[in-house]
Amino acid sequence: MSGSLLIKNGVIVREDEKQQVIDHGYVFISDGKIKEVGEGDPTRSADTVIDAAGCMVIPGIITAHTHLYGILLRGATLNIRPPQDFAQVLQRVWWPADEALTVEDAYASALSAGAEMLLSGSTFYADTYSGPNSIEGSLEAIADATVKLGIRGVIAFEVTERHSADEAEAGLVEAEQFARSEYMKSELVSMMVSIHASFTVSDELIERSVELAKKLDVPLTIHTSEGLVDLYHNLERYGERTVERLDRLGALGPKTVLAHCVHVNETELDIMEQRGVAVAHNPMSNMLNAVGVAPVAEMLERGIRVGLGNDGWIFDPFENMRTALTIHRLASGNPSAMGPEQVLRMATIEGAKCYGVEQSLGSLEIGKQADITIVDGSRLPTPLTAETAVGHLLNSIGNRDVRDVIVGGKTVVRNGHLESYDLSEITRRSRTSAETLWNKLARD
Ligand SMILES: [Zn+2]
Repeated sequence: MSGSLLIKNGVIVREDEKQQVIDHGYVFISDGKIKEVGEGDPTRSADTVIDAAGCMVIPGIITAHTHLYGILLRGATLNIRPPQDFAQVLQRVWWPADEALTVEDAYASALSAGAEMLLSGSTFYADTYSGPNSIEGSLEAIADATVKLGIRGVIAFEVTERHSADEAEAGLVEAEQFARSEYMKSELVSMMVSIHASFTVSDELIERSVELAKKLDVPLTIHTSEGLVDLYHNLERYGERTVERLDRLGALGPKTVLAHCVHVNETELDIMEQRGVAVAHNPMSNMLNAVGVAPVAEMLERGIRVGLGNDGWIFDPFENMRTALTIHRLASGNPSAMGPEQVLRMATIEGAKCYGVEQSLGSLEIGKQADITIVDGSRLPTPLTAETAVGHLLNSIGNRDVRDVIVGGKTVVRNGHLESYDLSEITRRSRTSAETLWNKLARD
C-alpha cells in the first residue's frame, strides 16, 4: 500500500448527507483511506502531494449497471435488418454478439472498458457478462482485468435459459465457482448473481438464483421491464406484471438491484418500495433502444435507491448524468423534474447504496476508502466555487476533464494518463477481439 497522500487546494464536493462543498480544501489519505477532509490549507504534509488548484475533487463515480463487453460493438457496422423494437435489438444485435464471445473477449473488453471508465472518472462498476459459449472462466478473466487496472468491480455472469436449461446450469456453476476464487480475496473485486430478464428464465431458475444469492450473501440483479416484451411475457404467461412475478418468487429485497424498470406501474412501485429494492437507471441506453423513460422521479420520492448505469453503451459518466438530468424533464414537461444534486447523488452515494457499499464508498468522508476523482476546471468558462461546482459537473464537465483518479489511495490515472496498465496494449488486445467478433457476426 502506498503511504500517505494529500490532495490540496481543490473545491471538495463531498456528497455526504449534508451535501457539503468546500470552496478551498484538502483530503488527507493514508493506508488507502480518507483520514481527514478539511477547509483551507492542511497543517500536515504527506508522502505524495497532489495540487488540485482549479479542480473539483469528487467521490469516484459509481457505475451501477454495465456490460463491459459492450465496448466491443463500438462502431461495428452490423449487417442486420434494422430492429423495430427492443426485442429485435436483443435478437439481432446483442444475442448474436453474446454467442460469439470468448473468454479472451471477456478479458480484453474488461480491460478496455475498465480503462475507459477509469479515464472517465468512474472507480466502480457493476458488470454483468453474458456469453453462453464462454461461461467457464469468464468471471476470473474479468476479475483479473479489474485487479490489474486497479478499478473496483462487482461482477456477475448473467444466467438465462434462452437456449437450454444446461446453459442456465453452467451460469450458476460459474457463479458458485467464482465465489471460491482467489480473486474474491481482493479488496477490488466482489460478485453478484445476475439473471438476464424475466422473459428468458423460468420460475425455477429465478428461485434457484435467489437461493444462490442468499447462500453467497451477495446482491442479486435482473433486467426488469426494460422493454414491453418483458411485461407482456409475464402478463400473458403468469397474469402478473414483472415486479409482481419477481415478488412472488422471493426475488425482491434490500440486496436486489433491478436494472431499468421502465415499464413499472404504481402497484409495482409500491412493491419495490415495500421490499426495499434498488434500481439501476440507464437513461442513455433507454434512449438508444427506444424503450421509454423510467419513472425515476417517482422512485426518488418514494425513497427507492436509484443508481446510475450505462448498460454497456456510453461509458462517460458525465454524459450519462446529463441525460439523467434532461430525460425526465422532457418526459414530464417539467423543467424541475430532476435536479443536478439528485443526479450527482445517483452517480455517487446512491449508487454505492444500491450495492450495500455506502459505508466504504460513494462520498468523501473520514474512514471511507479513498476512491477519488479530480476534475480539471481550467476549461470552465465561468467561475468555479463551492456554489457552482455541482452545476458545473452537470453542465460543463466531460470525461476529457478528468485529470487524476485514485482508487483505495492508489493513483491509477495521473494527468489523464492510465498509470496501472499500458493503454496501447489494452487497445491492441481490444481491437483484435473486436475484429474477430465482427468477422464471426458477419458470417452468421
Ligand atoms: Zn444491462
